[in-house]
Order: sequence, then C-alpha cells, then structure tokens
Amino acid sequence: MCGVIGILADYEVVHDLYVGLITLQHRGQTSAGIVTYDTTFHLKKGNGLASVVFNEKNLSRLRGKIGIGQVRYPTIGLGGEEDAQPFMVNVPLGIAMAHNGNVTNYWELREELTTKCFRHLISYSDVEVILNVFADELTILPLHNFSFEMIVKATQGVFNRVEGSYSVVGFIAQQGLFAFRDPLGIKPLCLGENKNNYIVASESAAIEHLGYKFVRDILPGEIVFIDNKRRFYSKVIETQMATPCIFEWVYFARPDSILDGIEVYSARERLGEKLGLACLKANLKPDVVIPVPDSGRGAAQAVARILGVPQKEGLIKNYYIGRTFIMPKQSQRKNLVTLKLNVVKSVIAGKKVLVVDDSIVRGTTAQQIVGLLRKAEASKVYYGVTCPPIKYPCVYGIDMMTRGEFVARNRSIETIRRKIGADILIYQTLEDMCEAVKGDAKIKKFCTACYTGTYPTGISKKEILKLEKERLKALNRKRGIS
Ligand code: SF4
Repeated sequence: MCGVIGILADYEVVHDLYVGLITLQHRGQTSAGIVTYDTTFHLKKGNGLASVVFNEKNLSRLRGKIGIGQVRYPTIGLGGEEDAQPFMVNVPLGIAMAHNGNVTNYWELREELTTKCFRHLISYSDVEVILNVFADELTILPLHNFSFEMIVKATQGVFNRVEGSYSVVGFIAQQGLFAFRDPLGIKPLCLGENKNNYIVASESAAIEHLGYKFVRDILPGEIVFIDNKRRFYSKVIETQMATPCIFEWVYFARPDSILDGIEVYSARERLGEKLGLACLKANLKPDVVIPVPDSGRGAAQAVARILGVPQKEGLIKNYYIGRTFIMPKQSQRKNLVTLKLNVVKSVIAGKKVLVVDDSIVRGTTAQQIVGLLRKAEASKVYYGVTCPPIKYPCVYGIDMMTRGEFVARNRSIETIRRKIGADILIYQTLEDMCEAVKGDAKIKKFCTACYTGTYPTGISKKEILKLEKERLKALNRKRGIS
C-alpha cells in the first residue's frame, strides 16, 4: 500500500512533492521519501508520516525541477528505514525510482540480480529490485545516444522479468521523468499537466490538489516519458485485459479521486444503492443508517435513501489517530479502534441502527463498533458491508497477505455475525460489487482475488504460500518472535 508522485516542471518541485505526499498519506503511513535532482541527487527519506520525516530545513536542501516522492506501508521487508523509498542507482545511469505495488517473484529476482547480474542491493524493498532490473536492461544499450526507445526497451525488460503489481515513477538524471504501470494495471497511476509542467501520481486528487489538470490515467502496460525539454512520449508496450484492484474504489482511494475513469465517490454511492436493495430484500427496517467514517459515508447515504430512513453521523472519528487497518500490529489495532471512534448517543439510544462499512478484514473494527453501539443503547445493531467476505491473501500490495488474519476465512456469514456481535449481517455480493464499481465505465474486469482466490497474474498456490511464509517471518521478526 503506497502512494507515489513525480513532477518535472520549470520551478523547484519539492514543495509540490511534499504537499502531494500529504494528499496521498492515506495510502501509507510507515515511511515517506523524496528525491530531487539539479546537478546532483538530493534525497530525504525515513520512517513516519510525511509531516514527521520532512521539515523546512530538509525540504530546503531538496533542490531541483525534477523529483519523485513516495509514502509507504511495507508488504515485503521489515519496514525499517533502509526500506523507505525512493531508491537510486548510478550505473549505467543515475536513476531514481519509487513504486506502488508488490513484486511476487521478489526473492527469485533478488537472487538473480546478485548472482548473475552482479548488482548488489542495500534493502529488502521490492522497488529496489525493479530499479535494478530496469538498470540491468539499460546496461546492454548504447546509452551515449540516449532515446525514448531505450526506456521502452528497459521497461519491456521489466515487464518480462518482474511479476506482480507495480505502478512506477522515476527519473533519469539529466534526461527526464518516467512512469509505467504493470501490464494488468493493478495499481492506479494518473497523469496531469499544467502549462507544459508534468505530474504523475497514484490518484487524481493529488494532481488536482496541486493545481494541475488531470489529463488521463496511465494505461496498463504503458510507459510515459517526459524529457528535460518537457517533450512528452508514451507507448503502450503490452496490452492485456486490465484488472485494476477493486479495493481501491471500495475502501482505499480518496473519494475525490477518479481512477480508470471511475469516480471513487460515485462508485461508493452505487455500492450503497446495491446494498440498500439487498437490505430491502432482507426486509430490514432500521430507524437510522450510520456510516463508518469516512469511506462508508457515500454508501450510507445511498442505503438510507433506498430504505427511506434518515442517515446520521452516529460515529465520530478522531482524525489524529492513524488508519487502524494499516497499523502493523493486531494489539495496536485493537486499542486504536476505540480511541478512534466515539458515539453520538442521541442518534443511537433506543434505535435500530444499520451501520454501513466498506469492508470487514480482520473483524476487529466491526466487533468494536458493535460493542460501542450496544453500550450506547442501540435496540438493534445491523451491519451492512459494501463488499463480499474477504477470504484470500492479497499478493499485490494491500497488506492482507496471510490467510489467518481474515475473519471470513473458513467461517460462514452466520458465524461472522456472531463473532462481531451484530443482530443481522449483510454482505454485498461479488456481482453487485463489480457492477456497482463499474457503473458505465469501459473496464471489463477487476482484480477481485481477495474475494475469489482467482489471481489475475496466474500466481500459483505454492508461490502464494511462499509469500505468506515470508510475510509472516518478517512480521514475527518485527514483533520479536523468532
Ligand atoms: S487481491 Fe484484493 S486488495 Fe489485492 S489487488 Fe486484488 S482486489 Fe485489490
């Protein structure tokens, strides 16, 4: 889970990169980093929120009119400072890179790079592997005559060798800014422009927030390059059927973003309409609908409209506590849910309350919310979820990589209902979720692997188990369990 940004402009870019990272902070809170270039690289990265890592002093030394930034939550590696992005190499060219995604053949590539390509890595971050594959592919080209075609060839090499999901931003010193998206386009990446200045970012909201005009999504399998004279080049290298991650619209992305032609807020409204119809069918008659703030809000309004009951703010969020979903430890998550949410008693007491949530992953938050509502004397607590039960690990960059953590794994909906303590639990069906998110967009298919177990990259069960094992090992090392 990461957010990336890259800018090439006719002004010093560091402040825009920093504001962009703040706009994308919901995508990762473990580390933040920026690298810029004028006549040399200027890098600052570290663990923590962007506002913790950066200050006026270190931002002022990040000079240059080209740069990239990243906010990260780790899915490979321990998340130590050495894994914070961006990364750089100097051979065969000065290249900086950051990404959003997860490389599923990371360990094989790491081994290959070290033993066969004599490229030595300094971290356990998967973008360092992508960067070195990219650099390795460039090594065999006549770089004295640098051209866009060389970047195309290096990116093709990445597509051939790197498996998984990756939306990449980077720059080549003295040459220009580049960005590419894996052939299935699992993670989002958008392009913006303002008076011949260019920006790429994980979400359109970051682009527009900085006063740039959102131009379009970078296409799956496409490489985009803007040279130092700000001439624009692009090529779709590989065309496969795109399978963007549906979880971006369900939960992850900002509601004010438009990804792959689908506005996140409208998608959440449509998810609410479908869930509302399912509630009608189940003859559910709540007195009030309340969203789990914030991502449940758009859906809750639609559910209330369909059911003809008021939608109210019954749960109040403390915005100064991080997203519990991306807190690394279960114990931290448990405590933070109650710290994060409080109840408006007058909205809840004596009422049949329908809570609308975007998803249930581990069940911790849902259980705590039901507990809070009961304590506030709700007469009934109904729980509506805008997506189906999550049962399978995500190997593409959302930190749900181990099967044991899913409350829905090997449990019936009735058992989950009892576990979270709700009177009625209603999940969205897979078909309704896909239809709702799609709306009238052109996308034909989404990645829905965490609901169905069908992985668009065709990764084998054995490889998934291996990734899960490595992830568990990393998490245990982090928790001090050998
Ligand atoms: S497995 Fe789920 S969370 Fe992961 S990319 Fe696919 S839809 Fe998104």
